[in-house]
Amino acid sequence: DHISEIIKRNIMKRPLVEGDVIPIISSMTQPMSSQVGGGQAIPLIAVEVEPADAIVIIGEFTEIELRQKPVRGYDGAARGITYEDIGGLGTEIQRVREMIELPLKHPELFQRLNIEPPKGIILFGPPGTGKTLIAKAVANESRANFLYIAGPEIMGKYYGESEERIRKIFEEAEEEAPSIIFIDEIDSIAPKRQNVTGEVERRVVAQLLTMMDGLEERGQVVVIGATNRVDAIDPALRRPGRFDREIEIGVPDTDDRLEILQIHTRGVPLREDVTPEFLEYLAKHTQAFVGADLLALVQEAAMKSLRRALPDINLEDEEIPQEILDTINVCREDFESALREIEPSAMREVLVEVPAVKWSDVGGL
Ligand code: ADP
Repeated sequence: DHISEIIKRNIMKRPLVEGDVIPIISSMTQPMSSQVGGGQAIPLIAVEVEPADAIVIIGEFTEIELRQKPVRGYDGAARGITYEDIGGLGTEIQRVREMIELPLKHPELFQRLNIEPPKGIILFGPPGTGKTLIAKAVANESRANFLYIAGPEIMGKYYGESEERIRKIFEEAEEEAPSIIFIDEIDSIAPKRQNVTGEVERRVVAQLLTMMDGLEERGQVVVIGATNRVDAIDPALRRPGRFDREIEIGVPDTDDRLEILQIHTRGVPLREDVTPEFLEYLAKHTQAFVGADLLALVQEAAMKSLRRALPDINLEDEEIPQEILDTINVCREDFESALREIEPSAMREVLVEVPAVKWSDVGGL
């Protein structure tokens, strides 16, 4: 039931039943984030699927194993991810490259000019906009090790456990430099102190600061923290020499959404009626959708094409014949019906904050 719930929330948005088809789209190492219990996000990763296939048909004998993502960097997390996989965010990528990739690849340039590259950078913006994606791409393109820390997960239960984990990750990063340490939901480790009553949080923040301060100058370790709101984190973390650069990763506009849709439909067999103009139409009609929502839209459309095709497929066949596979295409109607079902995550999760505006602020009317 637990797994069914996770799959429902992440992929199907309804309870899982036997015979359901779940696309595991070449992203076995990509974490799926899931809200499980107490409103806390627990990132999960599909570790093993039996039988392993591009498309898994859930039947009596299908085993899906989902494990909590290991706290330490996992092999291949960033492998293969490039800037080409990111839609929009051109200027943001440029800044990240300058701040992280250049110093990691060419420390001599910075030594010559006596510029100190940043040790820590904060990426902030709504969930699903590509913060993790950028961090993985920059790690991959800089040929750096990628170490992942899930904020809520590192807060261990036992005395000293969280600090120990942080220490180990930093040690590993330094040993295997160049490295990028990515701390997702950094606000859960280091919230603004006035909000913190917990002793654990105070100790963990202190440990994080000690580790950052201890990183070698011009070192080959960069820490990227991600948060929804930059003002939700402890100001002590934002002082010079710590997380002293900030880059906003915003909600994509129409052009960005088109790029994101193009990226996520790249490997998908599309029927001729899914024209470039139709993708533009989709981009226009997906206001407030972030990258993760657009990915969900494409996946849902693909699922719809499968459901259309299923009645013509003999599932008893050892392998579905190529002629049949060749007929499975995603069409315009699949996208349109997916669009009616998928709503932008911002509508579900983020409360829109209206700044206090007084009549006296309104001029000329
Ligand atoms: P965040 O870290 O901001 O919460 P992620 O980077 O984890 O968001 O995004 C989740 C997934 O959504 C990504 O793996 C990617 O498939 C898709 N995605 C998000 N933003 C973009 C983008 N700008 N371009 C392409 N894909 C995106």
